[in-house]
Amino acid sequence: MSKTTQHKSALKENKGVSSQEITNKASISKIQKKRKAQPSTDDLVAGILNGEITPLSRAITLIESKSGKHLEQANTIINQCLPHANASIRVGITGVPGVGKSTFIEAFGKHLTALGKKVAILAVDPSSSISKGSILGDKTRMEDLVKDPNAFIRPSASGTSLGGVARKTRETIILCEAAGFDIIIIETVGVGQSETTVHSMVDFFLLLKLAGAGDELQGIKRGIIEMADAIAINKADGDNIKRAKLAQVEFNKALHLYPEKESHWQPKVTVCSALNRKGVSETWDLIKDYIKLTKDNSYFNHNRNEQNKFWLLQTIEEHLKNDFFKHSKIKIELDKQLVLIERNKTTPFAAADYLLGLKNKL
Ligand code: GDP
Repeated sequence: MSKTTQHKSALKENKGVSSQEITNKASISKIQKKRKAQPSTDDLVAGILNGEITPLSRAITLIESKSGKHLEQANTIINQCLPHANASIRVGITGVPGVGKSTFIEAFGKHLTALGKKVAILAVDPSSSISKGSILGDKTRMEDLVKDPNAFIRPSASGTSLGGVARKTRETIILCEAAGFDIIIIETVGVGQSETTVHSMVDFFLLLKLAGAGDELQGIKRGIIEMADAIAINKADGDNIKRAKLAQVEFNKALHLYPEKESHWQPKVTVCSALNRKGVSETWDLIKDYIKLTKDNSYFNHNRNEQNKFWLLQTIEEHLKNDFFKHSKIKIELDKQLVLIERNKTTPFAAADYLLGLKNKL
């Protein structure tokens, strides 16, 4: 049989005709465009205010985007969400890697959702800009919480500066509050400046500690203890219970040596086993006591106002700095001035005056 007769059947397709129609470039790009079509700003705001996770996640992605267009859209969303924000309790949780933060947050979060609360978990991770990793990237220790419809877990925003990451986190808090989350947990690791950053965006600051052998107070940064509203000694299980209780006594003694907090709250020390979910509900009780006290004595609102003022100034500083250093002319001249300083040919102040003057002329 010749080729032509072979193709005479009505069931035979002509060479590639139909497949060409659905796979041609125009169709592909049409489908892709449809898939990529971003919901409008109004749609996103409506979805967030309705408590929907998908628009919330999309809006957070816009906040984290580097594109000016996305940031513009993010700002509009934030402004529209702002009147619906502020109603949550913001809890910061810190502690060295391995202390059990993820395990604790899983237990704590489940306790809260069982009480009918909606919980959002965010992270400020100073290492993320270097490692491109995230402390919440590994959600394996939050297996239950990940599946909980009343929990929202968002790994940390990455960025080149802690200020940048912090700004994104603060804006994310606003969106989560507008979406109806009652409790916002912000996790950070106990290294560097990140605790100070998180402390300045939360109502209550919890430090997780381990009962170590020997002197409990060694190697602990005084500043972190001073910031803590509660210290929870974790892994108080098995052979460790006795040591944890001893550590509790020691920390309690130590905390009494610090001056009274502006909130008039006396920080508490508890023991817990995040793994066995013991002592976790007590932490929530403590937080409720703290909120009641600080709302009654007006510290709660005062603190939030102070935090907002602090962030305003921080943001201005960051903008000015970025604006200054981004100019190529400044970069070149700065290098020259650094050489002059090394050679003792100028002073830091004269060099700064010169560079700032130069910037004003740009
Ligand atoms: P993170 O790095 O601070 O987030 O710590 P993880 O939550 O990842 O916990 C580190 C390790 O400690 C894991 O192997 C946990 O299973 C374990 N762990 C966490 N909490 C407890 C606890 O209360 N008791 C015990 N025995 N182990 C725990």
